[in-house]
Amino acid sequence: QLREMDGYAPLNSDFDNFYTRRLQLRINDVFRRPVTGVPGRFITLLDRTSDDHNLSFKLTGTTTETLNMSSYNYLGFAQAEGECADAAEMNIKKYGISFCSPRGDSGTADLHVDVERQIAEFVGKPAATIYSMGFVTNATIFPALVGKGCLMISDQLNHSSIRFGARISGAVIDMFKHNDMNDLERVLRERISQGQPRTHRPWRKILVAVEGLYSMEGTLCNLPGLVALKKRYKFALYVDEAHSVGALGPRGRGVCDYFGIDPAEIDILMGTLTKSFGANGGYIASSKAIIDKIRVINAGTIYGESPAPAVLAQIQSSLRIISGDLAPGQGEERLQRLAFNSRYLRLGLKRLGFIIYGHDDSPIIPLALYHPAKIPAFSHEMLRRKIAVVVVGYPATPLISSRARFCVSAAHTKDDLDRLLAACDQAGDVLQLKFSSGIAGGQ
Ligand code: PMP
Repeated sequence: QLREMDGYAPLNSDFDNFYTRRLQLRINDVFRRPVTGVPGRFITLLDRTSDDHNLSFKLTGTTTETLNMSSYNYLGFAQAEGECADAAEMNIKKYGISFCSPRGDSGTADLHVDVERQIAEFVGKPAATIYSMGFVTNATIFPALVGKGCLMISDQLNHSSIRFGARISGAVIDMFKHNDMNDLERVLRERISQGQPRTHRPWRKILVAVEGLYSMEGTLCNLPGLVALKKRYKFALYVDEAHSVGALGPRGRGVCDYFGIDPAEIDILMGTLTKSFGANGGYIASSKAIIDKIRVINAGTIYGESPAPAVLAQIQSSLRIISGDLAPGQGEERLQRLAFNSRYLRLGLKRLGFIIYGHDDSPIIPLALYHPAKIPAFSHEMLRRKIAVVVVGYPATPLISSRARFCVSAAHTKDDLDRLLAACDQAGDVLQLKFSSGIAGGQ
């Protein structure tokens, strides 16, 4: 036993420091309650008993069905049914549950090759490679792309997996203010000219990393601005499409589709398969030369378990549905439903007088709660009305911009959203969250 009195810090000695306390803040009513079914249009939560202050539940308790505004189920594929469920069942029968091997050993099946081809085609890149976890995709890709002598410039609000990967890459890291192209240009100018004549470029490579759609803010990256700067300053561009692929653009193909920009302009398109596709894992899509290299030098590919058979079936089926190859018309309908629902809810909340962050087309809709004390209160008011939402506060957000976050899905009906609006109207009065008496008209 290592003893504190002998000068050793106990393993749990950092559990209650400033940084880790934020996790406690973020644990709200929904997170505290295990889910007992599909996280689809509705989500069933295990009820808490009086002594359940931690996550030690008696798993035999009663449950409550709530309207689910808390899962990233953008296109409604969480409810794996019909073609998706049939294909998953067939894959399990044919391949089992797991490949029990990383890709580089015996973990590459014909299914992986096919899914990678499908993803590359979907996002408009020559090649793609997949990982069994989105977090691991970002956390392990950067050392394969940049290292010593390179500069990586990251949007201030990039996801923790990007920060994680950036740190272990060995590159010098700088940040620019969220979505601020002037600030990115300032960083580029400062870093490129650093004590050097203008003709000299002090970095082996410069990589700029952004997200397509930011999940705490509901903001879209300024892709046209980034592409213009890329041409001027000659950097490589990495876009994490975790929340935008499948959710944005007339064909659901992400931010390039949304802005009408050729995917060839972006060096690396990364995405996760956990959100719009209702599956698991992540992908990197890029040139054939880069993907071929990544397959052999990226630790996440070499050492991690390869994506599982049922997951691959879900990716294949959902992609085919979105592209219109399977169940014609259904993909288009899901995309249209998501676009309508996102705008309908956002406008409805604005009309009620709430402050709503983000872009009009974002399916993530953050509602301002302001004071941290309103975080548990709002969550409670929603759960009382059988609605599950995620609430977020400091230091994930600035102290006074605590927020609730609604994740809209194509699975939601207009009645669901009207029910949510009515609940927010009442909770907004109780908690004094409304900024004004609401906006008139369509802004
Ligand atoms: N990138 C972004 C922007 C994310 O929001 C997330 C998770 N929400 C990830 C990567 C990690 O993906 P996954 O949850 O599929 O591991």
